Amino acid sequence: MKKPNPHCPVLGCRTGKPHDTDTLVQGMLAEFGSPEKLTLWTRTAMAELSQSICRDLQEKKIFAWLSRLRQPEEIYVRTLYTLFIATKEELPHIVSGDTPNGMMGYYKPVNKLVFEGRGLLDATHPGLTVGSFKPVHALHAGAHGSFSAIMTCIGLAHHPEALPSPDKYIEHVGKYCTYLNYMHEMFKGGKSKQDVLAGVISLHKPASYWAEQQAKIKEATASPPIPPKP
Ligand SMILES: [Zn+2]
Repeated sequence: MKKPNPHCPVLGCRTGKPHDTDTLVQGMLAEFGSPEKLTLWTRTAMAELSQSICRDLQEKKIFAWLSRLRQPEEIYVRTLYTLFIATKEELPHIVSGDTPNGMMGYYKPVNKLVFEGRGLLDATHPGLTVGSFKPVHALHAGAHGSFSAIMTCIGLAHHPEALPSPDKYIEHVGKYCTYLNYMHEMFKGGKSKQDVLAGVISLHKPASYWAEQQAKIKEATASPPIPPKP
């Protein structure tokens, strides 16, 4: 059992003093404690990252591409957690970067609340040639520059058809930029977290959900059949 830390509400944190006594943490809280600024900075970082990752993909620098893939997911998930799930007391720990601060600790509650359990990072997928894999393991392996990531690149060099098209990847990260921009504009316009969250949940609903809604509206508004004349 992990003992509670008197300086921090995050279980497992080993800080010897409250995080916000550190001037660097105070500076970060001033930037990332504001939803409007947080979404502006993360969108800016995301846009720059997506250009660099796509350039690697276009130039077929497979290892360079794979080693960066976790970053957009990590930024997006941490932003959603910070905005919609974290308590005020948890915020100094999150910005401090002290452990535990891993993406998957944030991903699980974000997947439940915002993606409504449809997130694919932790789901099992069939492997390229044999076995199965979870995307999150590939992201971690790439970010750590592990041997298994190099092995994956060897496999992809032999099966370049399994690489996503740069257009598809731009579309994927582009969605994150669009959604962060949406949140930024909503916060800038004075909307509450509750309202913005409801909007973001809607943005993440699959196309099939909207098709179903359209069909329901069509059914409800369709004119009833004219009864035959007696
Ligand atoms: Zn802490």
